[in-house]
Formats: sequence, structure tokens, C-alpha cells
Amino acid sequence: MITAAELATPNFPNWCPGCGNFGIWAAFKNAAVTSDWDNTNTAFVAGIGCHGHMVNFVKLTSFEGLHGRPIPVATGIKMANHRLNVFVFTGDGDCLGEGGNHFINAARRNHNITVLLHNNNIYGLTTGQTSPTTRKDFPTKSTPDGNPDEPFKVLNLAIAAGATFAARVYANDIAGLSAMIIKANEHQGFSVVEMLQPCITFNKECSPTFFTDNTYKLPDSYDPTNIAAALEKTLEFGEKQIPVGLFYKVDKPTAESEFPQIDAKPLVDNQVEKRDVSELLQTLY
Ligand code: SF4
Repeated sequence: MITAAELATPNFPNWCPGCGNFGIWAAFKNAAVTSDWDNTNTAFVAGIGCHGHMVNFVKLTSFEGLHGRPIPVATGIKMANHRLNVFVFTGDGDCLGEGGNHFINAARRNHNITVLLHNNNIYGLTTGQTSPTTRKDFPTKSTPDGNPDEPFKVLNLAIAAGATFAARVYANDIAGLSAMIIKANEHQGFSVVEMLQPCITFNKECSPTFFTDNTYKLPDSYDPTNIAAALEKTLEFGEKQIPVGLFYKVDKPTAESEFPQIDAKPLVDNQVEKRDVSELLQTLY
């Protein structure tokens, strides 16, 4: 069994004290210890942003991709070795701005990966610009007179694009987030966990108090298999009105299961045959 000590890196995170990334960091490590995720069975990819530093603070096989591109790296890893648990850490800007096209198409194909989306409603690493989830009229460095655009509703977009597991958890609910990360990974398909992550430095509005005061758990009577109800529920966001929990879950064939070539064994287990391609190359000159 892997231990928390084995997941630790020599560096303590340099996020701002009080940043919601600390809760996510703790929740993921708890989930890894509980589920025994180690370098033989797990890999994760991060994008660019404060969240991306996760690769420096969790000692598992990881890769920090280009801005907005962690999802294609992760789907490549999953196609090469579909036995691995594959996670993506990404931010609201990284995932829905630079990487929006990757997000919707990976959801549409139902790649069997888990996307952990740090939603702090701002670009934090670049010191506070409007992101695709910044609320309309919110003033930022890039829109000092107020954001003129409507924000994406993350889970609504994910479900509409084809995600087969969609959940939201407050980042500082470490036990709840840990459990949801495990559940998302167990799901066979494209899983999105929107993590409400306070950026205490550049978004004073979405503070820890704001989230504790305004979130509520989806009731036990809520049915996560009803897509119409889920799409409607994901539109709800306001004072005392931010639902958290599992919004939607459905079983469908994964992208990887559509490829008979990897049925018997992962691509990574195939022998690489040496072939003479000089004749082929000649045809290209
Ligand atoms: Fe966290 Fe915001 Fe500081 Fe980045 S800038 S480390 S998101 S509090």
C-alpha cells in the first residue's frame, strides 16, 4: 500500500496561504492512499496555471503540458495504456479558454479519464484576469469596468458535450472531495469534477466564506441518471443556491473500448517491430 509519505515531494507547495489548491492537494493524496494509486497504476497531467504546480507536489508519474493541453496528453496516455488510472488537473482558464476544444471533444468521445477542474473563476497565475467562468460584470485586471461576457456553466457544458460523470465539490471539503475523486475514477468514462476553489488573492468574491455560506448538498432524492434534470440543475448558481454533489452519471461505451486493437492488451505491451522504411521514404522525395 502506498503511504502519504511516499507521495510527498521535498517541496512544500508555494501556493498563497489559504489557497483552495491546498484542499485539492490533500484530497487527491488521501484518495491515492485509500485507493493505492502508485507509479505502476496511475499517471496525471496538469495544464498551466497555479493548479499546474501539482506536478511538483505529488510524487506520482506526471506531466505538465502546454497551456490548455493537458487533456490531449491524458487521452494519449490512456490510449497507450488503458490499464492506468489517468487524471487531469486543469484550471477554468486552462480547460475552458485555451483548452475548450479539447475539453468538449474528449467529453464527446467519452475517454475514460478523470478531469479535476480547479474553478477559481479567474486567471490566478497571471495575477487576476477574466477567465471563461468569471461572472458577468465582475471587475478584473483585464476588464476593470466589469466582465462584459456571460460565464460558462462548467457542468452544463460538460454534460451537453457528452461527459458521462459530472460532479461539483467545494475544494476545502477534503473528505467529500476525496470520496468524489475516487468515485469519478471508478466510473468508466469521461468524468468531470468541478472543484470550487477559492483564489484568496485575486478573487475576493469567491472566498471560503462565500462557498461555505452558499453551497448546499444535492438531496438524497436527486436522481443523477436524469439528464434533463441534471442539465437544469447545473444552471443553478447564486446566493444560497450552489448545489454540490453528483449531478449526472450514465454508463456508455468509452472511447478506448471502441478500439478492438487494444482489447487484448494495451498498446504499450506490444513489441516494436523494426521495419525498413527506406523504400517508402524514397517515394516522398
Ligand atoms: Fe491560489 Fe490564487 Fe494564490 Fe494562485 S494566486 S496560488 S490560485 S490564491
